[in-house]
Amino acid sequence: MDFGLSEEQKRWRALAHEFAEKTIKPDALRRDRIPTAAERIPWDWIREADRLGIRTLGVPREFGGAGADILTMCLVGEELAVGDLGFAVIMDQCWKMAHILSDAMTPEQQQRFIPAFVKDPEATFAIAFTEIGAGSDHQGYHDSPDIEFRTTAVREGGFYVINGSKRYVSNGGMAKLYFVVARTDPSKTLREGGSVFIVPSDTPGFRADFFHEKSSQRLATNGTFHFENCRVPAGNLLGGEGLMSRLRSEFMWGSKAEAAATALGVGRAAYEYALQYAKERVQGGRRIVELQAVAMMLAQMAMKIDAARTQIWRTAWLADCKQPEARTLGLLAKVNASETAFEACKLASEILGGAAIMHEHPVEKYLRDATSFLHSDGTNQVCLLRAAQGLAAPGAALYGF
Ligand SMILES: Cc1cc2nc3c(=O)[nH]c(=O)nc-3n(C[C@H](O)[C@H](O)[C@H](O)COP(=O)(O)OP(=O)(O)OC[C@H]3O[C@@H](n4cnc5c(N)ncnc54)[C@H](O)[C@@H]3O)c2cc1C
Repeated sequence: MDFGLSEEQKRWRALAHEFAEKTIKPDALRRDRIPTAAERIPWDWIREADRLGIRTLGVPREFGGAGADILTMCLVGEELAVGDLGFAVIMDQCWKMAHILSDAMTPEQQQRFIPAFVKDPEATFAIAFTEIGAGSDHQGYHDSPDIEFRTTAVREGGFYVINGSKRYVSNGGMAKLYFVVARTDPSKTLREGGSVFIVPSDTPGFRADFFHEKSSQRLATNGTFHFENCRVPAGNLLGGEGLMSRLRSEFMWGSKAEAAATALGVGRAAYEYALQYAKERVQGGRRIVELQAVAMMLAQMAMKIDAARTQIWRTAWLADCKQPEARTLGLLAKVNASETAFEACKLASEILGGAAIMHEHPVEKYLRDATSFLHSDGTNQVCLLRAAQGLAAPGAALYGF
């Protein structure tokens, strides 16, 4: 077993680390406190990420991207999230579509959409499932035709006409290209009758409504938007009618591992800050890092972060090899990483004492950020239920036998 990273992976990780340490971290706290969502969008960091090749990390090489593997995206995602979780999420929405771009789009779709995305240094993607009546219900665990998933797409000649609304969507309202799930056959369950459409933000009938104000991932937007007789060419249908579920399971291999890596980055940031604080703070006649109660909390944080990261790397490696157990392991890795990060932030709060809630220190921000991934990318409960389904499926294996 080889846990060594390739020279290429080390290079990307070092580049992201430097970007996070020199540019993101020093200004993240100030930006987090800007009161309105639209003014918080870090366009300058997005442009810098473009210059560094991070924005297009998942774009196939033939279109000018890095064509990175899933493990590389996890490495870069963790580093960026140590700087700021919201910014890491902005980038990850683009990377999640890596295999959709390379393997699920037709050559015609690739030509129409990828070069425009590569050329525009501020372009990002958004992936739109969630609606008012369908949060967990679009995750496929409760797959009934009766769920309140209202967005529909109806074929009219050479077009589809989309109607409906989405909410909570990451990069919603700021993205240039939307991957939108709509029902093409509402009599069927979403798994059988859900389809994915590529919708540029300037399509008539698409209207971005507002950004949700929130306590977590404040540099990323979560948007609500509407489709009102929004006509897209039939050629914007991804894969075919009713293929949403297949696209999700066959071409979004890295999605959960990448989400887990970004969630974990917040836990690591809290650990690193608490360790440094404990080395400097003196109470009881000693630096508090020498007090057993504090030292044990730090060791516990390090233990859990390392275990969660090992699980993420294994999941990413399996996903890069297209091994089916990566799907179940990905769900478990996301739950484990988000809980580990949340726990690390709680322990960091205890180590800082009263300083934990003071705005001079970033730990209260880390704690707020860590809450988001308990629900984002599927609530942890629903992820566990889906993992349990995967584990119980005939022939399922977590260790390949
Ligand atoms: C930061 C953030 C980013 C997001 N980004 C996106 C995005 O990019 N695109 C997108 O489409 N959506 C996005 N979402 C939405 C996200 O997918 C949903 O919030 C999530 O799936 C949960 O849905 P909900 O919030 O409606 O909670 P609900 O579904 O209302 O869940 C409420 C509670 O009920 C439980 N529950 C629900 N159903 C079941 C069940 N069948 N069995 C047992 N328990 C159940 C849940 O576990 C939870 O405890 C994002 C959300 C957040 C917070």
